Amino acid sequence: MTTVLHPALETTGADITTGADTSASATSPTTPAHPPTLSRLHAPTLTTLTDAVAANVERMRLATDATIMAVVKADGYGLGAVPVALAAVGAGAEWLGITDVDDAAELRAAGVDVPILAWLNPSGVDAARALAHCVDVAAGSVDELRQLIADVSAADAGRLRVHLHLDTGMARGGAPVEDWAELLRVARAGSAQIDVVGVMGHLPGADAADPSVNAPAVLRMRQGRDAVLRAGFGPLIVHLAATSGTLTDPATHFDLVRVGAGLVGIDPSETVALQGAARLTASVVHSSVVPAGTSIGYCGTHVTQRQTGIAVIGVGYADGIPRELLPGAAVEIDGVRCEIVGRVSMDQIVVDTGERRMPRGSTAVVFGPDGGAVPRIQEWARWAGSIPHTIVTGIGPRVERRTA
Ligand SMILES: *Cc1c(COP(=O)(O)O)cnc(C)c1O
Repeated sequence: MTTVLHPALETTGADITTGADTSASATSPTTPAHPPTLSRLHAPTLTTLTDAVAANVERMRLATDATIMAVVKADGYGLGAVPVALAAVGAGAEWLGITDVDDAAELRAAGVDVPILAWLNPSGVDAARALAHCVDVAAGSVDELRQLIADVSAADAGRLRVHLHLDTGMARGGAPVEDWAELLRVARAGSAQIDVVGVMGHLPGADAADPSVNAPAVLRMRQGRDAVLRAGFGPLIVHLAATSGTLTDPATHFDLVRVGAGLVGIDPSETVALQGAARLTASVVHSSVVPAGTSIGYCGTHVTQRQTGIAVIGVGYADGIPRELLPGAAVEIDGVRCEIVGRVSMDQIVVDTGERRMPRGSTAVVFGPDGGAVPRIQEWARWAGSIPHTIVTGIGPRVERRTA
């Protein structure tokens, strides 16, 4: 059995087991010539790159003549509804879309004055609030529409602008075709309370770059539009497409496209290189050199094969680092891609820095659009067996937010 000498015991330069001089070992991790004397740590930080959001809106503009609605649900796909909305509107987006009237009110408070549509409204619609903040609301069922009309009547504060949400083939929201006639009857009866200004559907092939996959939904959308027009409503804003449809299939565009993922640099169709709008950084909080045979982290799922540098980074699954990762998941430190080794912990991960010693206070870039050794969110999605959307929306609340 060979005895492995811990590097900390090597300060004499002599291997006490053999008497051999090991101080000149070629594989020993090196420390920079002038290590910082003070380590400056920073809290895990998610930076929203507003220039990238603007560039992505401009890219959408090249793809369509339709009005662009910037969708900033889920706090702007994790990057901040307000900064993403302001950047998108600044770059020419004419509408904003969100899932809740309360979130829309926050956008109004931030000074946004473009039209806003709120669909879904998981905790119900506060009709008075929607009217007060000039928020359009989508109604996707007969029950929802009846409730809305009753609430507007009770609020007695004017007529609410409504978009009828029709199911275009997803069975996940929107009135099914069998209910359209009743939906339109209810809408007509409520004409003192609501103003039907739009009709919306949603594409089930959210990542399809193939127009033939979208064709049934496009047909259903046209049928829906025609039914609403025949019922005497109009003019209407007709909208169906999200990011993928916008980038790949003009037949889905109608009057307005609803772009969410594309704003933050995610193209679900993977046909266009958009600009990543998120960078997550964290500090190396601990740095050391360990010998071969060292087991790292909980349950010893990783054992070092050689003497190597390791760095502990102060970000973990509570911050949104996926715990189930394929081998190869990594961060960038000082231009080097450093693989995550051992289990992801609640507050920290450990990376193998190989020959390099990455001192405490070094900045690790978990993901970003920077290129080089910096992983992109698309790589994180692959390592996590997921989609990039879950990477950006999963960043935890204690991570500091910045905009740049
Ligand atoms: C989220 C959402 C969008 C935006 O989809 P992306 O693929 O993120 O662009 C559009 N419409 C509806 C109804 C949505 O829920």
